[in-house]
Amino acid sequence: MLKNIKSNGVSMLSSSKILAQALCDLTEHVLYKDKFHWIDSRCPNFKISFTVGTGSRTCFKFDSRRTRGKFVYGVKRIHERFDFFSSVRLLTAVEIADRGYFHGKVTPSTSLAAVVLHEFAHLIEVVRHDERNGSHTPEFYKVLDRMHQSQYPAIIHSEILNKMNQLGINDQFTNGMSAIPESQYEFWRTMRAGMPCELFINESVTPGKIEKVNRKRVIVQVGNRSYSIHKQCVYMKNLLAV
Ligand SMILES: [Zn+2]
Repeated sequence: MLKNIKSNGVSMLSSSKILAQALCDLTEHVLYKDKFHWIDSRCPNFKISFTVGTGSRTCFKFDSRRTRGKFVYGVKRIHERFDFFSSVRLLTAVEIADRGYFHGKVTPSTSLAAVVLHEFAHLIEVVRHDERNGSHTPEFYKVLDRMHQSQYPAIIHSEILNKMNQLGINDQFTNGMSAIPESQYEFWRTMRAGMPCELFINESVTPGKIEKVNRKRVIVQVGNRSYSIHKQCVYMKNLLAV
């Protein structure tokens, strides 16, 4: 259940809807407009639409004949980008930290800007290749890295900050933190048996110790018991005190 957090009197859910529409507009009027001729020359009659979704789903979807493509920005996922623990695990947040996009700084506004670039990189990949290729391949990341070296990240980020400003939303998470510490991502990259860690259960901190790190899950000892927990739900010690 989403908490309808108020920010300066404006409900975050209705603000998320406005922000989702802003992401649609930026995708269409900044990125798509600039690339239209290139897309049209390779895939004539590829009709692209831009939609605000009600749920979490945020994606670029397309048909195999590349006649229709659709950007969807889910309101629920936008809302989640303001929640520290939802945001920290999102792929775009991990990309910002691991690939150094936006100087490696994960905030709600960089997370929103990053998703616009990420989804658009999917469109570029679809246009470049004949076969369906919608996943996160090394080729996809070459495209996304190039986009992050262009003028677009700064343009999109500043437009998002302007919109947040108009809506009275601060660029911070609802727990008051302004950015996710880079050290958390470093912790995920280097976690190993014997390290202390923390779990956040029902908004309280539970200390634990890492026993074993598997590909996706981690065995964590809490008190006398061991639990198998998804890697991205295991946090560095004192994460919230950084
Ligand atoms: Zn993707």
